[in-house]
Amino acid sequence: MLDVLTVISVVNAMMLFICVVTGLAWWAGEPGSESRYWFDASLMQLFGTLILSAGRYIHLDLVAFGAGFLLSAATGYVTLGYRQLYGMRAQRRWPLLVALATATATFLVRYGSGGHDDGWYLIYFGAAFSLMWGARAVWRGSVAAEMRFGRAAALLLVAYSAGCAIVAPLAFFFPVQYVDGKPQSLWLELSAVPLFVLNMAAYLMTLIVKLERATERQRQLATRDALTGALNRRAFYEAWSGVLDRGGVMAILDIDHFKSVNDTHGHLAGDVALETVAAAIATTLPKTALFGRLGGEEFGILFPGQDAAVAAQLLEDLRQSVRSKVIQSCEGRRFAVTFSAGFVVFDRSGGDVNRIFAAADCALYVAKSTGRDRIVAFDPPMLLRQEADLMKVAAVDAPMKAFTGASDPGAAEQTSSAPLSFSVKNA
Ligand code: GH3
Ligand code: MG
Ligand code: MG
Repeated sequence: MLDVLTVISVVNAMMLFICVVTGLAWWAGEPGSESRYWFDASLMQLFGTLILSAGRYIHLDLVAFGAGFLLSAATGYVTLGYRQLYGMRAQRRWPLLVALATATATFLVRYGSGGHDDGWYLIYFGAAFSLMWGARAVWRGSVAAEMRFGRAAALLLVAYSAGCAIVAPLAFFFPVQYVDGKPQSLWLELSAVPLFVLNMAAYLMTLIVKLERATERQRQLATRDALTGALNRRAFYEAWSGVLDRGGVMAILDIDHFKSVNDTHGHLAGDVALETVAAAIATTLPKTALFGRLGGEEFGILFPGQDAAVAAQLLEDLRQSVRSKVIQSCEGRRFAVTFSAGFVVFDRSGGDVNRIFAAADCALYVAKSTGRDRIVAFDPPMLLRQEADLMKVAAVDAPMKAFTGASDPGAAEQTSSAPLSFSVKNA
C-alpha cells in the first residue's frame, strides 16, 4: 500500500496538470467567463494539497486552517463556474464564507484539543455540503438548458459529495496520526485515490459541459430568432420538411394593423408586442407543434399529424389568448393586438412546402380581407375565387387593387367558426 505522502505527491502532480488544462481553457475563452472560476478552483486545490504535504515544515494547526480553507473554497468555486455558465448569480462571497467557516472550525477543533482531534472530518463535511449545493445548481441549470452532459456533471458532483460524506465519519472516528510530521491513516490512503479520480473527472467535465453549452449556443444562434426565440424561417422550413410525411396542419399568423402599432406606440412597443405574441404561442400550443417567425410580424405554426378540427380549436384558443394580453408602451399606454391566420391541411403524401405555404397564405389573405382577427381554413375554390378576383380587378386598375379582395362575397363565410379541411397534394 502506498503511504499517504506518496499519494498526496501524485495528487499534487495531477493537480498541476489540471491547473494547466483549466488555465489554458480560461486563456482560450472569453475574459470573465466561467473558466476563470474553474482555473481559480484548481489553483486553490493545488495549493491546498501542497500545504497538506508540507506538515513537516508548517505548523500542523496552520496546515489544518490553510488546507481546510483552500480545499473547501475550491469546491465552491467549481459551483460558481457552473452558475456563471448557466446565467445564474455567481457570488464569490458564499464559497469563501463557507470555506472560512470550515477552516476556522477545523483550526479551533485542532487547537482546542491540543492536536488530538485533527478536525479533518470538518473539511470533508464542508466539501460534501459545498458539492451538494453545486450539484443542485448544476442540475437545475442543465435541466433548464436541456443539456445532457450538464446533468451528467450534476450526478458526478453528487457522487463526489457522497464520497466526501462517507469519508467524513471515518475521519472523525479514526483521526490521522502524524509521525515525524508525516500524516498516517488507512482511510486516507484508501480514499485519496478514488476521491481524486472523482475530483479530476469533475474538472474534465467542466470542459465537456462548456463545449456542450457553446455548441448549443451556436445552434440557437443559427436556428432561433433573436427577438422572439421562435425558430427562424430557415429552421422552421427545415423542421417542417423533416415531418412533412406525417401530414398535419400548417398555419400562417399575421398580426393585424401592426404598422399602426409601430406608428402609434413606437417601434419598441411593437417589439414587445411581437415578444408577447410569441410567448403566447409558445405557452398555448402543445409541445408537438412547431413555430417560427417567418419574417416581420408573421409567424408559421405547424401541427404535425394533427387534423383540422383540433388545429382550428388550438388556433382559436391562441387567438383568444393573444387578444387578452395587455401590452404597455414606453409612455405607459396600454394596448392589445389581434392576429389573423390562414391554415391548410396537408396529407401524409407530403408535397411541396412552397405550395402548402401558398395555400395557407391564400387563406390568410381571406382572413385579412374579411375583417381580420379571425382564422380561416383554405379550400381549393378559394384559390379559384382569388384568381378570378385578380383577373377582374387587374382588368380595371392593375396592380394597385389586386389584393383588396373586399368585393368577394364568398370569402366572408370562411371564418374560424367553420374551419374547412382540404388537402394540398403534389400536383
Ligand atoms: P395587416 O393587418 O394587413 O397585416 O397590416 P400590417 O400593418 O400588420 O401590415 P404591414 O405588412 O403593412 O406591416 C408590417 C409592419 O411590421 C411593418 C414593419 O415596420 C413592422 N415590422 C416588421 N418587423 C418588425 C420588428 O421586428 N419590430 C417592429 N416593431 N416592427 C416590425
Ligand atoms: Mg400584419
Ligand atoms: Mg405581414
